[in-house]
Amino acid sequence: MNELQQQILELKRTKNAVILAHSYQIPEIKQIADFTGDSYQLAVQAKNTDAEIIVFCGVHFMAETAKIINPKRTVLLPSLDAGCALADEITAEQLRNWKAKFPSAPVVLYINSTAAAKAEADVVCTSSNARKIVQSLPNHQILMAPDKNLSNVIAQELPEKDIIAWDGVCPVHQDITAEILESVMAKYPTAEVVVHPECRPEVCKNADAVLSTSGMIDYVEQSNATEFIIGTEQGLIDTLIEKFPQKRFFPTHEPKSCDESCVCPYMKSNNLDNVLLALKNMQHEIVVEESVRVGAKRSIDRMLEITI
Ligand code: SF4
Repeated sequence: MNELQQQILELKRTKNAVILAHSYQIPEIKQIADFTGDSYQLAVQAKNTDAEIIVFCGVHFMAETAKIINPKRTVLLPSLDAGCALADEITAEQLRNWKAKFPSAPVVLYINSTAAAKAEADVVCTSSNARKIVQSLPNHQILMAPDKNLSNVIAQELPEKDIIAWDGVCPVHQDITAEILESVMAKYPTAEVVVHPECRPEVCKNADAVLSTSGMIDYVEQSNATEFIIGTEQGLIDTLIEKFPQKRFFPTHEPKSCDESCVCPYMKSNNLDNVLLALKNMQHEIVVEESVRVGAKRSIDRMLEITI
């Protein structure tokens, strides 16, 4: 532990705070986190914590979700730059107008969305439970937003459903092209290929498995293979290297550099300096207007009821 990490841990203890970190965070943050996981696991942790303060080392929609489901806690987001390009792909107003065109179709909204958009949805999903959520709905026609690649994966898995997808993408995963993946596969022909459902369909088609970040960790643990090509943000690859030192992991961003792709600038805007400042100065506190919070909580609770 370095000095900064020790100062954070001391403040965390005296202020009765908990640090929740997404898998895409830098290793130095994950080392001091009480819990590291994907957006679904972090939402469950946020719901169940009795700490006074949640320092959310992730992006804004995740911190908002924590505040929505556990409003008595003070939720702090260390970096003001920790937005999400995918969450910005659909506004509440756009969602309202879209819904109006398909009045009998329920809206399954990816958790990577704003609180205001969640308040317009019927049920929220994450990449780890999207299939289960869609399957649980009796309707044939279903609207899914904002990630068209995740929606496409679910449409392939559940052909009995008519899934209408919003045209949004995560630019970090969209940067992984079939050509890049093929060049890495040619270099490591025996490696198993595991990619995130936010990747392009032509990338998912070439993969042995299409999984959420927590699903990827479980897959690697259970697989007899020793080499894996991983198609998601670099932070998850850092976690896999640490958890499974006897296995080898190759990112899909070769031969490009990490700076060019597969590093989420929003996730990486959190660092030890701003985590310390968050705890010292109680910044930046997440506030969700009550009518929005109640609406968004309904769609998140519905997800939790289906999956817990
Ligand atoms: S990787 Fe970054 S931009 Fe993409 S969905 Fe996650 S937080 Fe948003």
